[in-house]
Amino acid sequence: MARCSFHPNVETELTCGECGRAICPKEMVATPVGYKCPVCARPPRGTRVQLKPKQLAGALGFAAAAGVVGGVLLGAFGFGFFGLILGFMWGGLTAEAAHRGSGGHRGGAVTTIAIIAVLAGAAASWALALTFGFGGLRILTLIAAVVGAASDTAAWWARR
Ligand SMILES: [Zn+2]
Ligand SMILES: [Zn+2]
Repeated sequence: MARCSFHPNVETELTCGECGRAICPKEMVATPVGYKCPVCARPPRGTRVQLKPKQLAGALGFAAAAGVVGGVLLGAFGFGFFGLILGFMWGGLTAEAAHRGSGGHRGGAVTTIAIIAVLAGAAASWALALTFGFGGLRILTLIAAVVGAASDTAAWWARR
């Protein structure tokens, strides 16, 4: 019997599926491709957190709702400097909605989703403006919203 590489007094017949060193049930890690030692099972540093399809769908759904509702409202009522401030808040809220919808993810894909949702909201308000000749989001308000969505993430990174 071989002895565990991590516990020299434990006999074992298990080996790591990746590096082949002897492992015992105390530290072995079950992975989709078999048992591994803790060193090999550790995910490589710096890998970006991938959103699962369900989290991605949640982020998209929440952000799209906040983006479109906000865009239509601001297109109709967000005028002048007040509109700029509301636009910034709208972007932040949309990023927050994407964050909640994704089950707590932030940055990268979630921010991208928030910005896309804000753009979709602008498109919705412009479509309504073309149809009814009323409202339509100001470009400056849209820019404020994109900055708001991005700064929500920036603020989070700064807080860590
Ligand atoms: Zn290993
Ligand atoms: Zn061990």
